[in-house]
Amino acid sequence: MPTYRELIQSSQIERFDAQVLLLHIVQKNRAWLITHDTDIASDEHTAMFESLAARRRAGEPIAYILGVREFYGRDFTVTPAVLIPRPDTELIVELALARAPHAARVIDLGTGSGCIPITLKLERPDLSVAALDISLDALAVATHNAAALQADIHFMQSDWLNAVVGEEFDLIVSNPPYIEVNDSHLSQGDLRFEPSGALTDGGNGLLHLSCIISQAKHHLVAGAWLLLEHGWDQGAACREILQTAGYTEVQTWRDLGDNDRVSGGVWRGA
Ligand code: GLN
Repeated sequence: MPTYRELIQSSQIERFDAQVLLLHIVQKNRAWLITHDTDIASDEHTAMFESLAARRRAGEPIAYILGVREFYGRDFTVTPAVLIPRPDTELIVELALARAPHAARVIDLGTGSGCIPITLKLERPDLSVAALDISLDALAVATHNAAALQADIHFMQSDWLNAVVGEEFDLIVSNPPYIEVNDSHLSQGDLRFEPSGALTDGGNGLLHLSCIISQAKHHLVAGAWLLLEHGWDQGAACREILQTAGYTEVQTWRDLGDNDRVSGGVWRGA
């Protein structure tokens, strides 16, 4: 019978991934493994580990295998219906928190797991937060997360802002699908398992970003920010689209990896 260390060593997956899967099975934290790695694994734990390791060898993302991913210090349920929350996306959350006026009406477009609006609401209970997605399967995951984390969010199915005609907001945020359809990353790693509709616009990567920029003008009060996450090489294009559309204070911010990641501007009114 193998020890925990032997299970990890023979798994043919990355050591860190193997540890994470094992700790999930035994329901322990990392410190436990340091003192117990020469313990004999039970048959049940061994079988469970072998089955999860096989899924990982087939390329399935750790977040989907575990069904959970941490974002901004909280656990979010994730399924293959939603994009896996990325640490990079904490940048748009920080920028939104710094720009949302007291008791602001905030809306997140293409919410996926709901990690952005739920974090905004929990960090700033004064905000009134709505979130939209075109995918009912994604909305089911987001609604579950909001209930589990006790965040009061108004969810609605919508193709970008089409379901909120006539409504105005004090801040609009979005992490839309922005990967160009021919980008080779789509056929590599975790992205192969994520919903393609959450990753790519099926075109040059700027289609949804442009659509949101033009629609948002009709839903922002004067002086309100629009903040958009985008790819590392899309900052200049986003700024140009924002400027052409009439936004002011247009700028781009960099993520922790020092890549352009969020651009935004202020809508001064028509
Ligand atoms: N940041 C993701 C990636 O590059 C893409 C997310 C998105 O398209 N919104 O893997």
